[in-house]
Amino acid sequence: MALIVQKFGGSSVKDAEHLRNVAEIVTSRYREGNDVVVVVSAQGDTTDDLIEKAKEINPNGSKREMDQLMTAGEQISAALLAMTIENMGFPAVSLLGWQAGFTTSSAYGSARIKRVDPERIRAELSRRNIVVVTGFQGLNRYDDMTTLGRGGSDTSAVAIAAAMHADLCQIYTDVDGVYTADPRKVNGARKLDFISYDEMLELATLGAQVLNNRSVEMAKKYHIELEVLSSLTREKGTIVKEVTNVEKMLITGVAKDDNIARLSILGVPDRPGLAFKIFSKLAQKNINVDIILQSIGRNGTKDISFTVEKDKMQSAIDLLRDYIETLGATAIVADDNVAKVSIVGSGMESHPGVAADMFEALFEANINIRMISTSEIKISVLIDKADGARAVQTIHDKFFDALS
Ligand code: ADP
Ligand code: ASP
Ligand code: MG
Repeated sequence: MALIVQKFGGSSVKDAEHLRNVAEIVTSRYREGNDVVVVVSAQGDTTDDLIEKAKEINPNGSKREMDQLMTAGEQISAALLAMTIENMGFPAVSLLGWQAGFTTSSAYGSARIKRVDPERIRAELSRRNIVVVTGFQGLNRYDDMTTLGRGGSDTSAVAIAAAMHADLCQIYTDVDGVYTADPRKVNGARKLDFISYDEMLELATLGAQVLNNRSVEMAKKYHIELEVLSSLTREKGTIVKEVTNVEKMLITGVAKDDNIARLSILGVPDRPGLAFKIFSKLAQKNINVDIILQSIGRNGTKDISFTVEKDKMQSAIDLLRDYIETLGATAIVADDNVAKVSIVGSGMESHPGVAADMFEALFEANINIRMISTSEIKISVLIDKADGARAVQTIHDKFFDALS
């Protein structure tokens, strides 16, 4: 007998028929004698719809009330799934995040899981219940419900698997695994049998939404192997784990992130301390900076460009507009018509020329690169948003067509 954690995303639980399908997957494991904990997301587009509804009423609703609202989405799907399972003749109980023992930081809308105390889950399992837990939520120290940020149910599932030392953690979604690029958008994308935590973490962080990046971070930390698979087929999925002893793939995948904006500060005096002052100001306000580019100083000044998440663009501008004048810079300009396209692969460390191949693919498609950043296992370029889809396809063709 094993303890199995299964997470189902919004499209897997979107209506009664899909709920029945999920209930079949869950009960087939239960019937084998396993303990089963199920984590669910809100049905279909419920979370988006709730956000829209709130915006119609108050575009600046407080984050606390947004979380009160958004946690309802998962509550509905958890209760409905438990009822579906009951209807099939099996015992089930649904639990909200706080009932399942999730304690989080206080940051509404982007809370971090601090602990999971799974006593209640254990008690329900010992009564032979199938336990259905709401993903994406927990309780903070003010006894308020919080949400974990978009896509956070994946992290809820991994957190339960870690806290309970589960034998298996399966993330069911609407594609049958992790691919070399988004299979819905890129022709020729290939399914991977395995992917390492580090590569998956990069891909998730760089825009491959198939797994939430925090869930991968947590899986790596607690050595939880994940299987990403489809709730609609009965195919084997992709295993995310510490991959060793296999030949490293040069490139594992291509990802795109449109949720990005570029800011440039022009005419920054070319002397020590200015970059420190600008970026510490942003850090104080929790504005994460990604790619940074500084021009060569000319006539005593230089330009500094950097990227931020799109929804942080306005706060960054508001924060810096007056400040940069006191520093002696001349202007700040912003552009959110950009996309970041990245390649990820642990093999690139030992293969020079990967960057050149990527840039060649972009050149052949006549796509202009505006910024570049690299690390040991990834290369990212910032390009015009309108070129984004074409860039991903052409880069993917370059690296993966050659393999076939
Ligand atoms: P869920 O609602 O189940 O959490 P998501 O929509 O969050 O599902 O994630 C699944 C989607 O991720 C897929 O439908 C697919 O379009 C997208 N995706 C992006 N990049 C990849 C990739 N490299 N491999 C697989 N799917 C990807
Ligand atoms: N329902 C939440 C969202 O849409 C959480 C999740 O799906 O993982 O972001
Ligand atoms: Mg998701």
